[in-house]
Amino acid sequence: MRKVFNFSAGPAVLPQEVLREAADEMLDYQGCGMSVMELSHRGKEFGEILENAEKLLRDLLKIPKNYHVLFLQGGATLQFAMVPMNLFGKTGRAHYFHTGLWSKKAIFEAKKFGEVLISASSEDKNFTYLPTVKAQDLQPDGDYIFMVTNNTIYGTCFKNIPDTGNIPLVGDMSSNILSEPIDVQKFGIIFAGAQKNIGPAGLTIVIIREDLVERTEKKIPTYLDYKTHVKNKSLYNTPPCYTVYLAKLVFEWIKEQGGLDAMGRRNHDKAGLLYDYLDASTLFKSPVVKHDRSIMNVTFVTGQPQLDDIFIREAEGAGLKNLKGHRAVGGMRASIYNAMPKEGVETLIRFMETFEKTHT
Ligand SMILES: *Cc1c(COP(=O)(O)O)cnc(C)c1O
Repeated sequence: MRKVFNFSAGPAVLPQEVLREAADEMLDYQGCGMSVMELSHRGKEFGEILENAEKLLRDLLKIPKNYHVLFLQGGATLQFAMVPMNLFGKTGRAHYFHTGLWSKKAIFEAKKFGEVLISASSEDKNFTYLPTVKAQDLQPDGDYIFMVTNNTIYGTCFKNIPDTGNIPLVGDMSSNILSEPIDVQKFGIIFAGAQKNIGPAGLTIVIIREDLVERTEKKIPTYLDYKTHVKNKSLYNTPPCYTVYLAKLVFEWIKEQGGLDAMGRRNHDKAGLLYDYLDASTLFKSPVVKHDRSIMNVTFVTGQPQLDDIFIREAEGAGLKNLKGHRAVGGMRASIYNAMPKEGVETLIRFMETFEKTHT
């Protein structure tokens, strides 16, 4: 058993069972005499890994047949550019919901390629809530609508995905993909960097509806064109093979745990324990309005930055790692992704209770 609980926002905790399996197969993958790291990306063994990874992900998320699944690189950050490069078309306009630092980066990038309309924003209250989006906010029509479904830094999560009709909705789901069931059909594109809830860093998953693959008529760099990766089944160039392999092991693990229904129940349970404690605490509080709280990233503060620092330091010493909030917001953040056991959350709460008693 490990002696610490890692609350890092990303790269983040991975399931113990997955790491153990990877360790067991590290030197000799299923008797082939080579490590997965040494396999040709065009060989039979890796071909099966990639194929199974896609199949498992399709099953878990119930991805419809008219969507492609791509295994790319460049992080979620590269998607901030690939989305506008590939989707700007007829109107040359897109709607963005501004809900934090990641949306800010996405907006910054999109503005290089077309007109960006900020149709909803929660900047007025430092992103501690999520704006409600009405149909009239999405006028005039744009080529697509962009949202970050879970705001990793601020600890907010959209509970309702807006119905955007014929306009494709693009979702940055980096920090909540696979945390509970979702309706893929509400989106034109879903993307996620792997290092939060999927696997190690270096892999980006893109789920794209087939009619959006050939949207742009512009000449864009080959690697940045979704067509390239669809045509080549994510093997246009060398994919991040080992990360794909670990992602496959994580998908298997989620399936063994009971799939996304079970994952969702477990995640709501874990987050509920922590939020209930925060709401009852006289020292710690959650800055996020109840309705918009994330079940993946739980932010909290004491209201005194110096005391926050002491808490973070003492927690580290007690084996509760990486609880420091993002530098943009300060305070604390407990990222409690799929692989964080309930015991980790319970241990954190006990530690907070003790800290509260000695500091109030
Ligand atoms: C972490 C994160 C990103 C950035 O991901 P990279 O893979 O580092 O590019 C983007 N969006 C969200 C919501 C994130 O949580």
